[in-house]
Amino acid sequence: MRTNDKRVALVTGAGQGIGRGIALRLAQDGFTVVVNDVVADASDLERGAYEVKASIEAAGGAAHVFRADVASAEERAAMVGFVAERFDRLDLLVNNAGVAPKERKDILEAGEESFDRLMAINLRGPYFLTQLVANRMIAWQEQGMVETPRIVFITSISAYTSSPSRGEYCVSKAGLSMAAKLFADRLAEYDIPVIEIRPGIIQTPMTAAVKEKYDELIAEGLLPTKRWGRPDDVAKVIAAFARGDLDYSTGQAIEVGGGFGLRRL
Ligand code: NAD
Repeated sequence: MRTNDKRVALVTGAGQGIGRGIALRLAQDGFTVVVNDVVADASDLERGAYEVKASIEAAGGAAHVFRADVASAEERAAMVGFVAERFDRLDLLVNNAGVAPKERKDILEAGEESFDRLMAINLRGPYFLTQLVANRMIAWQEQGMVETPRIVFITSISAYTSSPSRGEYCVSKAGLSMAAKLFADRLAEYDIPVIEIRPGIIQTPMTAAVKEKYDELIAEGLLPTKRWGRPDDVAKVIAAFARGDLDYSTGQAIEVGGGFGLRRL
């Protein structure tokens, strides 16, 4: 059955961390949220995509889980097919899913396997998911199903900051930053705004392994705003974009990093 009276958002990698924060906020703001993740165990309501769905529903919102690997062309197509079949509209795509290298290795030694894995998940996946979604959004717009659909790319401060012990991550995020500009340029004539969000150091399961290191760096003054970022810091910017407040800033990158990117003297 199609239920297309409410705005619909698709958030990739929304089973935990930043994606979870974005999904909860969008649901609170009235979106029906498609919670995508590569891991989704329906019997586990304590963590992962089904916990997010349960939390949204407990707060009176609407959510659906769609398990898919963004690196797989078939699974991307199945996910967009689900959205089309179920809602016949998509108002917001948030390309959030992303991974860090399994092991940090010096750029003089790191191998091609980790490079290929990160390119597939962090760059090729969102690039072609966006291509697929953008074509649908244009069609839905022409049919009057959506007014101003929008697209977000979650990159990182690593899009411009060198970390030679995870070069493949930096390169994948720098590439994704350009993808945001390309789609913003191409889609502006259709009135489909696109923004890039660059999180700084955000407390999530991804950064749990390096928590002590960053605790120290933050205490030593790495960030002008002396605290870790939280998923809701990112979600607030997306909420503003989803409302239409940033539409004329299409193609811009917004850093959510407590001032990390400031040059200081
Ligand atoms: P996380 O590891 O806590 O969560 C990422 C989620 O994405 C997980 O639920 C994971 O299962 C899912 N995922 C992984 N591969 C996937 C795939 N192929 N298809 C679908 N889902 C997949 O990470 P996070 O810290 O919440 O990061 C979210 C995004 O923000 C990532 O793109 C990350 O690179 C970026 N980011 C994070 C930080 C940070 O400090 N945490 C900083 C800058 C950018």
